[in-house]
Amino acid sequence: MEIQTIGIVGAGQMGNGIAHVMALAGYDVLLTDVSEDAMSAAMDTIEGNMKRQVGRGKISEEDQQAAFARIKTTPTLTDLGKSDLIIEAATERETVKQAIFEDLIPHLKPTTILTSNTSSISITRLASRTDRPEKFMGFHFMNPVPVMQLVELIRGIATDEETFNACKEVVERLNKTAASAEDFPAFIVNRILMPMINEAVYTLYEGVGNVKSIDSSMKLGANHPMGPLELADFIGLDTCLAIMNVLHDGLADTKYRPCPLLTKYVEAGWLGRKTERGFYDYRGDEPVPTR
Ligand code: NAD
Repeated sequence: MEIQTIGIVGAGQMGNGIAHVMALAGYDVLLTDVSEDAMSAAMDTIEGNMKRQVGRGKISEEDQQAAFARIKTTPTLTDLGKSDLIIEAATERETVKQAIFEDLIPHLKPTTILTSNTSSISITRLASRTDRPEKFMGFHFMNPVPVMQLVELIRGIATDEETFNACKEVVERLNKTAASAEDFPAFIVNRILMPMINEAVYTLYEGVGNVKSIDSSMKLGANHPMGPLELADFIGLDTCLAIMNVLHDGLADTKYRPCPLLTKYVEAGWLGRKTERGFYDYRGDEPVPTR
């Protein structure tokens, strides 16, 4: 199964990163979004990020220009039907993703592989509502896509070997590493990472430590490059809470109970870096702990 053209649905933070790395690896990319603004912002972001790589000597100017020219945008979702591989990276809402696949199906080639970059929605359930569950799987990039090495490849219950191998070859051509995961809530990375972050919030909630001592402990005592609360602010506290809820609901185990303090921060709209306040306040020159 030769893959050359890649359709990407959703031009947000993940979609633009995926387009960036695919084009640099030589794939032809067709990117779509319901928002024209998101598409033009994505092209600006990709150009800026690629130029930064040129500035740092990571890629040549010719490669950058050739890669950028391989990315096309279209406002029409069904134009993606001719792609060999489609990666859906739209908003994390099941009804949105389901509608995208339903609209795409009549326009696909029989061989097109469908994938989703979802962080938490069941791949098996998304696949079951398409005409090709055996050609459907999870293609889960980490943020920021051009920097992070890992891609989780998630098999739904029906995914066939040919589809899995075709996606694995794409990951190899990106010079990234694939980890194969079964389709259970939050897959591997978030299944392990989110309970750790949630536990850090419990540690704060119970007064075992403050923001600074918790983050310093994990950076200096466990050699983590970022403290768990700093990392939670980077990911977005709403995202962390949503993933804890998926684990709690999907696995029905109280060990995944979201910390009430995490819920309180989300209710306050203190979602981390994106709202300039979370476990740290980012409105000044230096981040200041909020507890
Ligand atoms: P985002 O909000 O930055 O971008 C989502 C984009 O999807 C928006 O531009 C929106 O206009 C577009 N969109 C919404 N409905 C659409 C539709 N019907 N058709 C086409 N485009 C549509 O979100 P994001 O952070 O890029 O996340 C996208 C996906 O990637 C989600 O499934 C998320 O769970 C997953 N993911 C996110 C991260 C992360 O750290 N942000 C990491 C891994 C995976």
